[in-house]
Amino acid sequence: MSGRHVIVVGGGPAGFMAAAKAAEEGASVLLLEKMKKLGRKMMITGKGRCNITNAAPIPELVRNIPGNGSFLYSALHAFDNEAVRDFFAARGVETKVERGGRVFPQSDRAADAVDALVTYLHELGVKIKTEAPAADILVEEGRAAGVVLVGGAKLRADAVVLAVGGASYPATGSTGDGYGMARRLGHTVTQILPSLVPLVVEEDWVKEAQGLSLRNVRCTLLADGKKCADAFGEMMFTHFGVTGPIILSLSRMAAQALAEGSFVELELDLKPALAPEIFAARVQRDFEKYQRKVLKNAMHDLLPGKLIAPVLDAAYLEVEKPVHQVTREERLRLTETIRHLMLTVTKTRPLAEAIVTAGGIATREIEPKTMQSKLLPGLYFAGEVVDVDGFTGGYNLQAAFSMGAAAGRWSARKA
Ligand SMILES: Cc1cc2nc3c(=O)[nH]c(=O)nc-3n(C[C@H](O)[C@H](O)[C@H](O)COP(=O)(O)OP(=O)(O)OC[C@H]3O[C@@H](n4cnc5c(N)ncnc54)[C@H](O)[C@@H]3O)c2cc1C
Repeated sequence: MSGRHVIVVGGGPAGFMAAAKAAEEGASVLLLEKMKKLGRKMMITGKGRCNITNAAPIPELVRNIPGNGSFLYSALHAFDNEAVRDFFAARGVETKVERGGRVFPQSDRAADAVDALVTYLHELGVKIKTEAPAADILVEEGRAAGVVLVGGAKLRADAVVLAVGGASYPATGSTGDGYGMARRLGHTVTQILPSLVPLVVEEDWVKEAQGLSLRNVRCTLLADGKKCADAFGEMMFTHFGVTGPIILSLSRMAAQALAEGSFVELELDLKPALAPEIFAARVQRDFEKYQRKVLKNAMHDLLPGKLIAPVLDAAYLEVEKPVHQVTREERLRLTETIRHLMLTVTKTRPLAEAIVTAGGIATREIEPKTMQSKLLPGLYFAGEVVDVDGFTGGYNLQAAFSMGAAAGRWSARKA
Protein backbone atom coordinates (compact mmCIF):
# COMPACT_ATOMS: atom_id res chain seq x y z
CA MET A 1 0.00 0.00 0.00
CA SER A 2 1.26 3.47 -0.87
CA GLY A 3 -0.78 4.96 1.97
CA ARG A 4 -1.40 7.99 -0.19
CA HIS A 5 -4.75 9.64 -0.36
CA VAL A 6 -5.81 10.73 -3.84
CA ILE A 7 -8.88 12.73 -4.85
CA VAL A 8 -10.03 12.37 -8.45
CA VAL A 9 -12.36 15.14 -9.62
CA GLY A 10 -14.71 14.07 -12.44
CA GLY A 11 -16.46 10.76 -13.01
CA GLY A 12 -15.91 10.39 -16.75
CA PRO A 13 -13.59 8.00 -18.62
CA ALA A 14 -10.42 9.90 -17.63
CA GLY A 15 -11.46 10.10 -13.96
CA PHE A 16 -12.56 6.44 -13.89
CA MET A 17 -9.21 5.26 -15.21
CA ALA A 18 -7.28 7.60 -12.91
CA ALA A 19 -9.22 6.36 -9.86
CA ALA A 20 -8.74 2.72 -10.87
CA LYS A 21 -4.99 3.02 -11.46
CA ALA A 22 -4.41 5.03 -8.26
CA ALA A 23 -6.32 2.41 -6.26
CA GLU A 24 -4.39 -0.42 -7.99
CA GLU A 25 -1.21 1.31 -6.76
CA GLY A 26 -2.56 1.07 -3.22
CA ALA A 27 -3.76 4.63 -2.70
CA SER A 28 -7.01 5.34 -0.91
CA VAL A 29 -9.08 7.10 -3.52
CA LEU A 30 -12.09 9.41 -3.43
CA LEU A 31 -13.86 10.11 -6.73
CA LEU A 32 -15.93 13.32 -6.83
CA GLU A 33 -18.65 13.78 -9.45
CA LYS A 34 -20.92 16.76 -9.66
CA MET A 35 -23.84 15.01 -11.36
CA LYS A 36 -26.19 12.44 -9.79
CA LYS A 37 -24.81 9.74 -12.04
CA LEU A 38 -21.32 8.85 -13.20
CA GLY A 39 -20.20 8.69 -16.83
CA ARG A 40 -23.11 10.48 -18.45
CA LYS A 41 -21.12 11.54 -21.48
CA MET A 42 -19.52 8.13 -21.89
CA MET A 43 -23.05 6.62 -21.94
CA ILE A 44 -23.89 8.52 -25.13
CA THR A 45 -20.60 7.95 -26.94
CA GLY A 46 -20.69 6.24 -30.32
CA LYS A 47 -24.48 6.72 -30.48
CA GLY A 48 -24.81 4.66 -27.31
CA ARG A 49 -22.41 1.97 -28.59
CA CYS A 50 -19.22 3.57 -27.22
CA ASN A 51 -16.35 3.61 -29.70
CA ILE A 52 -13.94 2.76 -26.90
CA THR A 53 -10.65 3.08 -28.80
CA ASN A 54 -9.09 2.54 -32.22
CA ALA A 55 -7.03 -0.50 -33.19
CA ALA A 56 -4.41 1.53 -35.12
CA PRO A 57 -0.72 1.51 -34.09
CA ILE A 58 0.42 4.34 -31.79
CA PRO A 59 1.84 6.67 -34.51
CA GLU A 60 -1.50 6.52 -36.31
CA LEU A 61 -3.39 7.18 -33.07
CA VAL A 62 -1.23 10.27 -32.62
CA ARG A 63 -1.87 11.39 -36.21
CA ASN A 64 -5.61 11.20 -35.56
CA ILE A 65 -5.33 13.47 -32.54
CA PRO A 66 -4.69 16.80 -34.29
CA GLY A 67 -4.88 18.66 -30.97
CA ASN A 68 -1.45 17.88 -29.45
CA GLY A 69 -1.46 14.15 -30.18
CA SER A 70 2.32 14.00 -29.83
CA PHE A 71 2.03 15.11 -26.20
CA LEU A 72 0.45 11.69 -25.60
CA TYR A 73 3.31 9.44 -26.82
CA SER A 74 4.45 8.59 -23.32
CA ALA A 75 0.96 8.07 -21.88
CA LEU A 76 -0.03 5.98 -24.94
CA HIS A 77 3.05 3.77 -24.65
CA ALA A 78 2.31 3.19 -20.97
CA PHE A 79 -1.38 2.39 -21.57
CA ASP A 80 -2.21 1.83 -25.24
CA ASN A 81 -5.26 0.61 -27.16
CA GLU A 82 -4.35 -3.05 -26.48
CA ALA A 83 -4.17 -2.23 -22.76
CA VAL A 84 -7.62 -0.62 -22.98
CA ARG A 85 -9.09 -3.67 -24.72
CA ASP A 86 -7.41 -6.04 -22.23
CA PHE A 87 -8.65 -3.91 -19.34
CA PHE A 88 -12.26 -4.19 -20.51
CA ALA A 89 -11.97 -7.87 -21.50
CA ALA A 90 -10.70 -8.68 -17.99
CA ARG A 91 -13.89 -7.07 -16.65
CA GLY A 92 -16.24 -9.01 -18.93
CA VAL A 93 -16.51 -6.48 -21.76
CA GLU A 94 -15.14 -8.18 -24.89
CA THR A 95 -14.57 -5.83 -27.81
CA LYS A 96 -14.72 -6.03 -31.61
CA VAL A 97 -13.06 -4.05 -34.37
CA GLU A 98 -15.17 -2.38 -37.06
CA ARG A 99 -14.49 -0.32 -40.18
CA GLY A 100 -11.61 2.13 -39.82
CA GLY A 101 -10.22 0.27 -36.79
CA ARG A 102 -13.04 1.48 -34.54
CA VAL A 103 -13.31 -0.67 -31.42
CA PHE A 104 -16.70 -1.23 -29.73
CA PRO A 105 -17.97 -3.48 -26.94
CA GLN A 106 -19.19 -6.72 -28.51
CA SER A 107 -22.59 -6.04 -26.93
CA ASP A 108 -22.79 -2.64 -28.70
CA ARG A 109 -23.75 -1.13 -25.35
CA ALA A 110 -21.89 1.86 -23.89
CA ALA A 111 -23.64 1.09 -20.59
CA ASP A 112 -21.69 -2.20 -20.35
CA ALA A 113 -18.37 -0.32 -20.54
CA VAL A 114 -19.49 2.26 -17.95
CA ASP A 115 -20.88 -0.42 -15.62
CA ALA A 116 -17.64 -2.42 -15.86
CA LEU A 117 -15.60 0.62 -14.84
CA VAL A 118 -17.88 1.57 -11.96
CA THR A 119 -18.08 -2.03 -10.67
CA TYR A 120 -14.29 -2.22 -10.75
CA LEU A 121 -13.98 1.01 -8.77
CA HIS A 122 -16.28 -0.49 -6.12
CA GLU A 123 -14.20 -3.69 -6.05
CA LEU A 124 -11.06 -1.63 -5.52
CA GLY A 125 -12.68 0.20 -2.61
CA VAL A 126 -12.74 3.61 -4.32
CA LYS A 127 -15.09 5.93 -2.42
CA ILE A 128 -17.50 7.65 -4.79
CA LYS A 129 -19.28 10.87 -3.96
CA THR A 130 -21.83 12.11 -6.51
CA GLU A 131 -23.54 15.52 -6.50
CA ALA A 132 -20.23 16.83 -5.17
CA PRO A 133 -19.08 19.65 -7.46
CA ALA A 134 -15.54 20.84 -6.88
CA ALA A 135 -15.00 24.61 -6.92
CA ASP A 136 -11.23 24.82 -6.52
CA ILE A 137 -8.01 23.02 -5.79
CA LEU A 138 -6.82 23.49 -2.22
CA VAL A 139 -3.19 24.70 -2.11
CA GLU A 140 -1.02 24.50 0.99
CA GLU A 141 2.73 25.03 1.25
CA GLY A 142 3.08 25.22 -2.50
CA ARG A 143 1.40 21.87 -3.15
CA ALA A 144 -2.05 20.64 -4.09
CA ALA A 145 -3.49 19.61 -0.75
CA GLY A 146 -7.06 18.70 -1.66
CA VAL A 147 -10.25 20.09 -3.08
CA VAL A 148 -12.66 22.85 -2.07
CA LEU A 149 -16.25 21.88 -2.86
CA VAL A 150 -18.91 24.32 -3.99
CA GLY A 151 -20.26 25.48 -0.63
CA GLY A 152 -16.79 25.72 0.87
CA ALA A 153 -16.15 22.28 2.41
CA LYS A 154 -12.49 21.28 2.20
CA LEU A 155 -11.42 17.74 1.43
CA ARG A 156 -7.73 16.98 2.01
CA ALA A 157 -5.49 14.67 -0.02
CA ASP A 158 -1.85 14.04 -0.91
CA ALA A 159 -2.62 14.45 -4.60
CA VAL A 160 -5.50 15.57 -6.80
CA VAL A 161 -6.37 14.50 -10.36
CA LEU A 162 -8.46 17.05 -12.23
CA ALA A 163 -10.51 15.17 -14.85
CA VAL A 164 -13.60 17.34 -15.26
CA GLY A 165 -13.78 17.15 -19.07
CA GLY A 166 -14.30 19.92 -21.62
CA ALA A 167 -17.20 22.27 -22.25
CA SER A 168 -19.26 20.51 -24.90
CA TYR A 169 -22.59 18.75 -24.25
CA PRO A 170 -22.91 20.62 -20.90
CA ALA A 171 -26.05 18.66 -19.97
CA THR A 172 -23.74 15.70 -19.31
CA GLY A 173 -21.92 17.66 -16.60
CA SER A 174 -18.95 18.87 -18.65
CA THR A 175 -19.38 22.60 -18.24
CA GLY A 176 -15.77 23.75 -18.47
CA ASP A 177 -15.29 24.05 -14.68
CA GLY A 178 -11.66 22.94 -14.95
CA TYR A 179 -10.54 25.96 -16.94
CA GLY A 180 -11.25 28.48 -14.17
CA MET A 181 -9.72 26.21 -11.52
CA ALA A 182 -6.53 25.79 -13.57
CA ARG A 183 -6.33 29.51 -14.41
CA ARG A 184 -6.61 30.46 -10.76
CA LEU A 185 -3.51 28.32 -10.13
CA GLY A 186 -1.58 30.17 -12.83
CA HIS A 187 -2.09 27.66 -15.63
CA THR A 188 -2.62 28.79 -19.21
CA VAL A 189 -5.86 27.72 -20.87
CA THR A 190 -5.60 27.86 -24.66
CA GLN A 191 -8.48 29.12 -26.78
CA ILE A 192 -11.57 26.95 -26.33
CA LEU A 193 -13.25 26.06 -29.64
CA PRO A 194 -15.76 23.49 -30.78
CA SER A 195 -14.43 20.49 -32.68
CA LEU A 196 -16.27 17.64 -34.39
CA VAL A 197 -19.16 20.00 -34.89
CA PRO A 198 -21.58 20.64 -37.81
CA LEU A 199 -21.00 23.74 -39.94
CA VAL A 200 -23.52 26.49 -40.73
CA VAL A 201 -23.49 27.73 -44.33
CA GLU A 202 -24.86 30.83 -46.02
CA GLU A 203 -26.40 29.21 -49.10
CA ASP A 204 -30.15 28.89 -48.68
CA TRP A 205 -30.45 25.91 -50.99
CA VAL A 206 -29.03 23.56 -48.35
CA LYS A 207 -32.46 23.72 -46.67
CA GLU A 208 -33.99 22.11 -49.77
CA ALA A 209 -31.30 19.44 -49.71
CA GLN A 210 -31.76 18.70 -46.00
CA GLY A 211 -31.67 14.99 -45.22
CA LEU A 212 -29.61 14.22 -48.32
CA SER A 213 -26.55 12.13 -47.58
CA LEU A 214 -23.66 11.95 -50.05
CA ARG A 215 -21.10 9.16 -50.12
CA ASN A 216 -17.68 9.19 -51.76
CA VAL A 217 -17.41 12.94 -52.14
CA ARG A 218 -14.36 15.11 -51.53
CA CYS A 219 -14.66 18.23 -49.45
CA THR A 220 -11.89 20.83 -49.34
CA LEU A 221 -11.73 23.52 -46.66
CA LEU A 222 -10.55 26.94 -47.84
CA ALA A 223 -9.61 29.91 -45.67
CA ASP A 224 -9.31 33.19 -47.59
CA GLY A 225 -9.14 31.11 -50.75
CA LYS A 226 -6.23 28.96 -49.56
CA LYS A 227 -6.64 25.22 -49.14
CA CYS A 228 -6.29 24.15 -45.48
CA ALA A 229 -7.36 20.50 -45.57
CA ASP A 230 -9.55 18.04 -47.41
CA ALA A 231 -11.46 14.90 -46.60
CA PHE A 232 -13.04 12.12 -48.64
CA GLY A 233 -16.13 10.18 -47.59
CA GLU A 234 -19.64 10.85 -46.37
CA MET A 235 -21.48 14.09 -45.59
CA MET A 236 -25.04 15.24 -45.05
CA PHE A 237 -27.13 18.35 -45.61
CA THR A 238 -29.23 19.77 -42.77
CA HIS A 239 -31.59 22.74 -42.41
CA PHE A 240 -28.65 24.94 -41.33
CA GLY A 241 -25.73 23.57 -43.29
CA VAL A 242 -23.65 20.43 -43.41
CA THR A 243 -22.61 17.59 -41.12
CA GLY A 244 -21.43 13.98 -41.31
CA PRO A 245 -18.00 12.36 -40.92
CA ILE A 246 -15.94 14.43 -43.39
CA ILE A 247 -17.48 17.71 -42.21
CA LEU A 248 -16.82 16.86 -38.56
CA SER A 249 -13.17 16.09 -39.40
CA LEU A 250 -12.78 19.46 -41.11
CA SER A 251 -14.69 21.37 -38.43
CA ARG A 252 -11.74 21.85 -36.08
CA MET A 253 -9.80 23.75 -38.72
CA ALA A 254 -12.92 25.60 -39.84
CA ALA A 255 -13.54 26.80 -36.27
CA GLN A 256 -9.92 27.95 -36.01
CA ALA A 257 -10.04 29.81 -39.33
CA LEU A 258 -13.34 31.49 -38.40
CA ALA A 259 -11.90 32.52 -35.03
CA GLU A 260 -9.00 34.14 -36.90
CA GLY A 261 -11.48 36.12 -38.99
CA SER A 262 -10.84 34.28 -42.27
CA PHE A 263 -13.39 33.86 -45.04
CA VAL A 264 -14.15 30.16 -44.86
CA GLU A 265 -15.50 28.03 -47.70
CA LEU A 266 -16.08 24.39 -48.50
CA GLU A 267 -15.50 23.15 -52.02
CA LEU A 268 -17.37 19.96 -52.85
CA ASP A 269 -16.21 17.61 -55.57
CA LEU A 270 -19.30 15.50 -56.18
CA LYS A 271 -17.49 13.12 -58.57
CA PRO A 272 -13.95 12.78 -57.20
CA ALA A 273 -13.43 9.24 -58.46
CA LEU A 274 -13.61 10.23 -62.15
CA ALA A 275 -10.77 11.87 -64.06
CA PRO A 276 -11.92 15.28 -65.39
CA GLU A 277 -11.91 14.27 -69.08
CA ILE A 278 -13.77 11.02 -68.39
CA PHE A 279 -16.38 12.89 -66.39
CA ALA A 280 -16.75 15.56 -69.09
CA ALA A 281 -17.27 12.82 -71.70
CA ARG A 282 -19.90 11.23 -69.50
CA VAL A 283 -21.86 14.49 -69.19
CA GLN A 284 -21.66 14.90 -72.95
CA ARG A 285 -23.04 11.37 -73.46
CA ASP A 286 -25.89 12.04 -71.01
CA PHE A 287 -26.75 15.24 -72.85
CA GLU A 288 -26.88 13.41 -76.19
CA LYS A 289 -29.11 10.78 -74.62
CA TYR A 290 -31.49 13.35 -73.08
CA GLN A 291 -31.34 16.02 -75.78
CA ARG A 292 -35.14 16.20 -76.03
CA LYS A 293 -35.49 17.02 -72.32
CA VAL A 294 -34.99 20.19 -70.32
CA LEU A 295 -31.90 20.39 -68.08
CA LYS A 296 -33.60 19.63 -64.76
CA ASN A 297 -34.92 16.36 -66.21
CA ALA A 298 -31.66 15.38 -67.87
CA MET A 299 -29.41 15.11 -64.86
CA HIS A 300 -30.83 12.32 -62.72
CA ASP A 301 -28.06 9.93 -63.81
CA LEU A 302 -25.47 12.47 -62.68
CA LEU A 303 -26.74 13.91 -59.41
CA PRO A 304 -29.21 13.25 -56.60
CA GLY A 305 -32.51 15.05 -57.34
CA LYS A 306 -32.12 17.53 -54.46
CA LEU A 307 -28.84 18.80 -55.89
CA ILE A 308 -29.90 19.32 -59.50
CA ALA A 309 -31.46 22.78 -59.13
CA PRO A 310 -28.72 24.15 -56.80
CA VAL A 311 -25.95 22.89 -59.12
CA LEU A 312 -27.65 24.34 -62.22
CA ASP A 313 -28.16 27.60 -60.38
CA ALA A 314 -24.50 27.72 -59.31
CA ALA A 315 -23.54 27.13 -62.96
CA TYR A 316 -25.85 30.01 -64.04
CA LEU A 317 -28.06 27.68 -66.07
CA GLU A 318 -31.87 27.75 -66.31
CA VAL A 319 -33.45 24.56 -65.03
CA GLU A 320 -35.99 24.69 -67.87
CA LYS A 321 -33.39 25.17 -70.61
CA PRO A 322 -33.74 22.50 -73.36
CA VAL A 323 -30.66 20.30 -73.38
CA HIS A 324 -30.17 20.69 -77.16
CA GLN A 325 -29.74 24.44 -76.64
CA VAL A 326 -26.93 24.05 -74.07
CA THR A 327 -23.68 25.31 -75.55
CA ARG A 328 -20.34 23.55 -75.16
CA GLU A 329 -19.17 26.35 -72.89
CA GLU A 330 -22.25 25.99 -70.69
CA ARG A 331 -21.79 22.23 -70.50
CA LEU A 332 -18.16 22.68 -69.42
CA ARG A 333 -19.25 25.23 -66.82
CA LEU A 334 -21.71 22.67 -65.46
CA THR A 335 -19.08 19.91 -65.22
CA GLU A 336 -16.73 22.33 -63.45
CA THR A 337 -19.49 23.27 -60.98
CA ILE A 338 -20.10 19.61 -60.15
CA ARG A 339 -16.39 19.27 -59.36
CA HIS A 340 -16.17 22.57 -57.44
CA LEU A 341 -19.49 23.32 -55.74
CA MET A 342 -18.83 26.11 -53.24
CA LEU A 343 -20.42 26.64 -49.83
CA THR A 344 -19.71 29.64 -47.59
CA VAL A 345 -19.25 28.71 -43.91
CA THR A 346 -20.57 31.45 -41.63
CA LYS A 347 -20.03 29.72 -38.27
CA THR A 348 -19.90 26.37 -36.55
CA ARG A 349 -22.79 25.08 -34.51
CA PRO A 350 -22.26 26.05 -30.84
CA LEU A 351 -19.75 24.42 -28.50
CA ALA A 352 -22.66 22.79 -26.67
CA GLU A 353 -23.27 20.69 -29.82
CA ALA A 354 -19.62 19.81 -30.44
CA ILE A 355 -18.51 16.24 -29.80
CA VAL A 356 -15.26 17.51 -28.32
CA THR A 357 -13.72 20.71 -27.06
CA ALA A 358 -10.52 21.83 -28.75
CA GLY A 359 -8.20 23.79 -26.47
CA GLY A 360 -7.78 23.49 -22.73
CA ILE A 361 -4.98 23.42 -20.17
CA ALA A 362 -1.72 24.04 -22.04
CA THR A 363 0.22 20.82 -22.54
CA ARG A 364 3.58 22.59 -22.13
CA GLU A 365 2.68 23.09 -18.46
CA ILE A 366 2.09 19.35 -17.87
CA GLU A 367 4.64 16.51 -17.49
CA PRO A 368 3.70 14.14 -20.35
CA LYS A 369 4.79 10.97 -18.52
CA THR A 370 3.06 11.61 -15.20
CA MET A 371 0.45 14.22 -16.19
CA GLN A 372 1.58 16.26 -13.17
CA SER A 373 1.30 20.03 -13.29
CA LYS A 374 4.68 21.70 -13.83
CA LEU A 375 3.40 24.62 -11.74
CA LEU A 376 1.83 22.91 -8.74
CA PRO A 377 3.24 19.63 -7.38
CA GLY A 378 0.58 17.15 -6.37
CA LEU A 379 -1.87 18.29 -9.05
CA TYR A 380 -2.46 16.03 -12.06
CA PHE A 381 -4.61 16.51 -15.15
CA ALA A 382 -6.37 13.98 -17.38
CA GLY A 383 -8.84 13.91 -20.25
CA GLU A 384 -10.56 16.55 -22.30
CA VAL A 385 -9.81 19.36 -19.81
CA VAL A 386 -6.28 19.21 -21.27
CA ASP A 387 -5.55 20.89 -24.63
CA VAL A 388 -5.82 17.56 -26.49
CA ASP A 389 -8.53 16.58 -28.97
CA GLY A 390 -8.86 13.91 -31.63
CA PHE A 391 -10.97 12.99 -34.63
CA THR A 392 -13.92 10.60 -34.42
CA GLY A 393 -12.92 6.94 -34.37
CA GLY A 394 -12.25 6.19 -30.69
CA TYR A 395 -9.25 8.52 -30.35
CA ASN A 396 -10.78 10.81 -27.71
CA LEU A 397 -11.67 8.01 -25.33
CA GLN A 398 -8.24 6.43 -25.84
CA ALA A 399 -6.67 9.79 -25.00
CA ALA A 400 -8.84 10.06 -21.85
CA PHE A 401 -7.95 6.52 -20.74
CA SER A 402 -4.21 6.95 -21.38
CA MET A 403 -4.01 10.30 -19.60
CA GLY A 404 -6.20 8.95 -16.78
CA ALA A 405 -4.01 5.86 -16.34
CA ALA A 406 -0.82 7.97 -16.16
CA ALA A 407 -2.30 10.54 -13.79
CA GLY A 408 -3.77 7.79 -11.56
CA ARG A 409 -0.57 5.77 -11.32
CA TRP A 410 1.75 8.69 -10.68
CA SER A 411 -0.53 10.55 -8.28
CA ALA A 412 -0.53 7.43 -6.09
CA ARG A 413 3.26 7.16 -6.00
CA LYS A 414 5.30 9.14 -3.49
CA ALA A 415 7.27 11.93 -5.16
C1 LIG B 1 -22.29 12.70 -28.42
C2 LIG B 1 -20.85 12.32 -28.16
C3 LIG B 1 -20.36 11.14 -28.69
C4 LIG B 1 -19.02 10.78 -28.49
N1 LIG B 1 -18.58 9.59 -28.98
C5 LIG B 1 -17.29 9.22 -28.78
C6 LIG B 1 -16.83 7.94 -29.19
O1 LIG B 1 -17.61 7.07 -29.65
N2 LIG B 1 -15.49 7.66 -29.03
C7 LIG B 1 -14.62 8.55 -28.48
O2 LIG B 1 -13.44 8.26 -28.40
N3 LIG B 1 -15.05 9.75 -28.01
C8 LIG B 1 -16.36 10.09 -28.13
N4 LIG B 1 -16.79 11.30 -27.64
C9 LIG B 1 -15.83 12.16 -26.88
C10 LIG B 1 -15.62 11.60 -25.47
O3 LIG B 1 -16.88 11.29 -24.90
C11 LIG B 1 -14.90 12.58 -24.57
O4 LIG B 1 -13.72 13.01 -25.19
C12 LIG B 1 -14.60 11.94 -23.21
O5 LIG B 1 -15.80 11.61 -22.55
C13 LIG B 1 -13.74 12.84 -22.33
O6 LIG B 1 -13.57 12.19 -21.11
P1 LIG B 1 -13.28 13.00 -19.77
O7 LIG B 1 -13.30 11.99 -18.66
O8 LIG B 1 -12.09 13.84 -19.94
O9 LIG B 1 -14.49 14.01 -19.60
P2 LIG B 1 -16.08 13.77 -19.45
O10 LIG B 1 -16.50 12.51 -20.08
O11 LIG B 1 -16.68 15.03 -19.89
O12 LIG B 1 -16.26 13.60 -17.87
C14 LIG B 1 -16.02 14.65 -16.97
C15 LIG B 1 -16.83 14.43 -15.72
O13 LIG B 1 -16.49 15.43 -14.76
C16 LIG B 1 -17.66 15.90 -14.14
N5 LIG B 1 -17.43 17.26 -13.64
C17 LIG B 1 -17.39 18.42 -14.37
N6 LIG B 1 -17.15 19.47 -13.57
C18 LIG B 1 -17.04 18.97 -12.30
C19 LIG B 1 -16.82 19.56 -11.04
N7 LIG B 1 -16.66 20.88 -10.91
N8 LIG B 1 -16.76 18.76 -9.96
C20 LIG B 1 -16.95 17.43 -10.07
N9 LIG B 1 -17.18 16.80 -11.25
C21 LIG B 1 -17.22 17.57 -12.33
C22 LIG B 1 -18.70 15.85 -15.23
O14 LIG B 1 -20.01 15.82 -14.70
C23 LIG B 1 -18.33 14.57 -15.96
O15 LIG B 1 -18.99 13.44 -15.45
C24 LIG B 1 -18.14 11.65 -27.77
C25 LIG B 1 -18.64 12.83 -27.25
C26 LIG B 1 -19.98 13.17 -27.42
C27 LIG B 1 -20.50 14.43 -26.82
